[in-house]
Amino acid sequence: MDPLYARYPFFDGAREAVREADISPAALITEDAPAVDRATERVKRALMEGTVAAEEPSRWDDREKLLSYPIARILVSLIETPAAVEKYATAEAATARERFETDFAADDDFQSTGRRRASLDDVLREFDLADAVRPERDRVGAERAGRGGRRGGGRGGRGPTHYWVGIGPYLELADADWGERWRLVNREVADGEVRISAEHLSRLLEAAVERRVAEGLPFEVRGTDGGDALAEALESAVSELRGLLDDHDAVDPRRVDTVVPALFPPCMRTLVRRAREGEALSDHAEFSLVSFLVALGMDRGDVATLLDVSPESEAGARIETRVEYLTERDGTQYPPPSCATMKEYGTCVDPDERCETISHPLSYYTDAIRDAGDVRDWRETAERAE
Ligand code: SF4
Repeated sequence: MDPLYARYPFFDGAREAVREADISPAALITEDAPAVDRATERVKRALMEGTVAAEEPSRWDDREKLLSYPIARILVSLIETPAAVEKYATAEAATARERFETDFAADDDFQSTGRRRASLDDVLREFDLADAVRPERDRVGAERAGRGGRRGGGRGGRGPTHYWVGIGPYLELADADWGERWRLVNREVADGEVRISAEHLSRLLEAAVERRVAEGLPFEVRGTDGGDALAEALESAVSELRGLLDDHDAVDPRRVDTVVPALFPPCMRTLVRRAREGEALSDHAEFSLVSFLVALGMDRGDVATLLDVSPESEAGARIETRVEYLTERDGTQYPPPSCATMKEYGTCVDPDERCETISHPLSYYTDAIRDAGDVRDWRETAERAE
């Protein structure tokens, strides 16, 4: 099996690899094999955190990673909620984009690292875009081409900084909701091609992945041949996943846009303190904190200042990416987890009396702001400006 399929299980060739596996996804589900756990994690993290990356990648081998994908699609279909499909496809695409960018930026290859990486050419071919995208011949690109270099891409900084994309594919993939910058009138257009940055090419590829993942979802499982047995075997995983979705949908819609850290709920105050002390937070804790801050309307600069992280540090860059990702989606698609989920993950810390009256950290904060009356936004204080 091509190890690339473990990282990109939505590639066409991966489907063939699943067919060639000596065991079917249905049989794995019946046996409650490890791939089922990985599939459940895949969907869980998609619904809660906008990523499908494994929390402990070394726990799973390539075959389990690959086979978890068709099982995850069965799980998403069984949840029977359009929001599940949307969030799942979005998360698969966002994770793929991160991996593409890492792969495109790497200048090693399979021979030197033992790890197969996707090239931009591989990905363009996969989505029938090979003839629709060409790198701009800037100085670096020309030098690389002269040395027989590859097409490059992503945000790694080693490839071309800009590309020309055929208008047809551009319009097909770009979404009007992405903002003014994406409107054709605001682009340089020449000879049927649109000029875009490498970062925007990544965004188009992300859209191509999202479309591919969402295609055919949800499909009928119950009532099909053997489908009822699968639904029964996955019943407890599906009900847990449905519960997570309900958690998110139950978030208090009253938006607060005043930032007063002293009035944050105890769980968030603790996470802010731990982050400021330089402690590495778990993925779940970091997502909970950052999504809470984004829900208050904080931008990446505010978040970096509050958490005292430098954008140059590894944690700072990761947090910045999270803020951007959540902000792009207006914070509504991935609101912070409810108290029940925080408790499940052990991040509900020192609950106080107000905690007994609410079920979501945002509700705690909304009530605390309302009760405090006249408050000053932290972003306007001298402490923040320093
Ligand atoms: S009960 Fe909710 S708001 Fe209170 S500390 Fe726990 S998670 Fe936070």
